[in-house]
Amino acid sequence: PKLVYDFTEGNKDLRDLLGGKGANLAEMTNLGLPVPPGFTITTEACRYYLEHGELPGGLAEEIDRHLSALERAMGKRLGQPDDPLLVSVRSGARFSMPGMMETVLNIGLNDESVAGLAAQAGDERFAWDSYRRLVQMFGKTVLGVDGDLFEDALEAAKKAKGTDQDTDLDAADLRGLVGTFKQIVREHAGRDFPTDPREQLDLAIKAVFTSWNAPRAVLYRRQERIPADLGTAVNVVAMVFGNMGMDSGTGVAFTRDPATGRQGVYGDYLQNAQGEDVVAGIRNTVPLTELERLDPRSYAELLRIMETLENHYRDMCDIEFTIERGKLWMLQTRVGKRTAAAAFRIACQLLDQGLIDEDEAVARVTGDQLAQLMFPRFDAAQADGSKLLTTGMNASPGAAVGKAVFSSERAVELAGQGQDVILVRRETNPDDLAGMVAARGVLTSRGGKTSHAAVVARGMGKTCVCGAEELDVDVRAARFTAPGGVTVQEGETISIDGTTGRVYLGEVPVEDSPVVRYFEGALDPGEGDELVQAVHRIMRHADARARLGVRANADTPEDAARARRFGARGIGLCRTEHMFLGDRRRLVEQLILAETDDERRTALAALEPLQRADFEGILEAMDGLPVTIRLIDPPLHEFLPDLTELAVKVALAGGDADPRDRKLLEAVRRLHEQNPMLGLRGVRLGLVIPGLFAMQVRAIAHAAARRVAAGGDPRPEIMIPLVGAVQELEAVRDEARGVLAEVREETGVDVPALIGTMIELPRAALTAGQIAEAAEFFSFGTNDLTQTTWGFSRDDVEAAFFGRYLELGVFGVSPFETLDREGVGRLVRIAVEEGRATRPDLKLGICGEHGGDPESVHFCHEVGLDYVSCSPFRVPVARLEAGRAAI
Ligand code: PEP
Ligand code: MG
Repeated sequence: PKLVYDFTEGNKDLRDLLGGKGANLAEMTNLGLPVPPGFTITTEACRYYLEHGELPGGLAEEIDRHLSALERAMGKRLGQPDDPLLVSVRSGARFSMPGMMETVLNIGLNDESVAGLAAQAGDERFAWDSYRRLVQMFGKTVLGVDGDLFEDALEAAKKAKGTDQDTDLDAADLRGLVGTFKQIVREHAGRDFPTDPREQLDLAIKAVFTSWNAPRAVLYRRQERIPADLGTAVNVVAMVFGNMGMDSGTGVAFTRDPATGRQGVYGDYLQNAQGEDVVAGIRNTVPLTELERLDPRSYAELLRIMETLENHYRDMCDIEFTIERGKLWMLQTRVGKRTAAAAFRIACQLLDQGLIDEDEAVARVTGDQLAQLMFPRFDAAQADGSKLLTTGMNASPGAAVGKAVFSSERAVELAGQGQDVILVRRETNPDDLAGMVAARGVLTSRGGKTSHAAVVARGMGKTCVCGAEELDVDVRAARFTAPGGVTVQEGETISIDGTTGRVYLGEVPVEDSPVVRYFEGALDPGEGDELVQAVHRIMRHADARARLGVRANADTPEDAARARRFGARGIGLCRTEHMFLGDRRRLVEQLILAETDDERRTALAALEPLQRADFEGILEAMDGLPVTIRLIDPPLHEFLPDLTELAVKVALAGGDADPRDRKLLEAVRRLHEQNPMLGLRGVRLGLVIPGLFAMQVRAIAHAAARRVAAGGDPRPEIMIPLVGAVQELEAVRDEARGVLAEVREETGVDVPALIGTMIELPRAALTAGQIAEAAEFFSFGTNDLTQTTWGFSRDDVEAAFFGRYLELGVFGVSPFETLDREGVGRLVRIAVEEGRATRPDLKLGICGEHGGDPESVHFCHEVGLDYVSCSPFRVPVARLEAGRAAI
């Protein structure tokens, strides 16, 4: 296969092969935008290298050919002593992984060509500055030398000069620094810095390939659910220089505000600098609008290009550019990361501009983003009364409260103990990733909206305030000082508002988001702000497109009512076990301790009216919509006192022990199971404890009859849990039908109730054809189905070994979170197919946690379920994803 593509040969649709950066550089080249010439080595070459430890055959020759072409185009050779061509070697994967992989600039410089570069540029300082950057970057990223050694040497040189600005170092200082850097390389890399330009290039390419598996890249991929086996492309690009003096510089920009979507000029610019200086937040940048004053021509051209890009990509883009002595060059563009709020706003803005249609607008947002918008935020009144420490930039919205910590390690440590922490840094770099993941929010004192902290936090949906320059952050001493001399030590609580950029001392209470109030029906979309209106428009279209229905898992009238306001079209799972808790435990004890049929009947009779009232409330809240009520599922001993506690109590009391306690202890012992999840629960209880299920069915039927009498429209459905064989279901169904007939007789009200089952055991899925003979509906209980298919205990497993499994790539995400398509999903498919073969009008739903997980909702759409059911708060997310799945 072809392993190297010139920028003129690629395009934006080749992201798999050329990575995002390479594909978009090619796209811009073909749009006629000013992109320095270059070529891209494919991800395929990377995958080969990572697998075999050597470059694929033919790659060296292809690189030779493309390098020669590049040299011809530029009229100079790589590292040519009197006028060197220099190149950058940049990583670029299918999915953007900001700062996670390596880049090496200024390849082609050595002791001879540095003089040629100085002569050509007429600037000796510039040439030596570029050279010291090469030795530094190359030493660190290619030869694996500790980067701090170079930083310390650079600091020492500045100190000797009595300055803290890189730009105050002159050519002689930098020349000295190059010598020092080379010495550091010799000592710590066990080899000399390579002076052969082609060797530099080859080593840098391999280093970029290898950086795909750098620990921080691996962590980032896991976090962002990016597959581990894609590999990165490598872009070799002719260097243009932002460090050629004050008429040069480098910057980053967005075509719209990535936090709000508002149109305007958003970005940062740094004079006399090379790219890395901006993104790393090493030196303070100026707002991009300043460029209008500094270089009006380049500024105007940049705005034109941004407009071209937005119209071409029909989306918000972010870009990196460099100005070399007044000439603008585009170094990168991509469809930009944005906050959840901006995603909704931008989708509607582009819709209004006619750049995209309604389907596309719905496709442009995600359920995860919607979920983020539903997070609470700071209560404005309470925030006003709190001590405001400072205001930084609102880099990534949300409200975060936690203890200040000053290192990634400490963040991970405290978060591991269950504490909420805010990671406070001067600026972050890719090594801080683990701490950012662990923290509730991130606060930095330097760097703009495009700094590492901001970009990464936005990608993770994590609250971030950056560039709070008034804060003096002392990482070593683990404290920061705010204006007015307030000092915050590690462990003190602060609150940061990523929507306003405000930083408060202490804990500020949080309140519901306006999006939630809109879903609650408490905020009319017409009165809401632009965001609420955007959410409203997108949801309306998603609902219109969705084929899957959305129901809620709810077992109180309050939850049912809320779910209904959130758009649920019924209840897919009403768990009845909470109805056996609290004061009612006494009655459950009586039931279990009953020695005669009479005693048992009395206990059940006491429970029945309570259950009936519960059901009445829920049927009322969901009037006119289906309510699937599941008969009791958990093992009964869950409602009894703890075995050890009770045993101790009885033992301590000795001869004085309450006889009731003794009896109870006996029962607890008798009912004790080694594997209660695989024990006496679900349908098995119904078959073993006479009258239990019948009581529940009677309560449902009476509740429905009362609702009818009250003029309501109850639609109960009776669901039997943990069925593995049709015979189990038949027995319970026949009993339930008998009870329904009795109640009909008694009350004179005929309330039809479907009788169906959960599919939550592999055997149920595999014999679904038979089970459908006795079931009018199936609801996939994918919590138990995942547990029993994998043999993972749903209650223990997450803590025990999932971390290791994720690390090893056994799965990319917990199968309890996102439905495992290949295993559990296969069982679902079989059950759908065979169930419908038996009973074409079989109703099919899912009520495991997966019902509210975006990826799993798409699966449910694909296999043809009728509805998903999820917790009330996830209902809007499921509605949106149901719509997206249909587009
Ligand atoms: C399930 O197993 O997926 C389910 C919904 O039932 P529960 O979580 O109550 O076991
Ligand atoms: Mg279950």
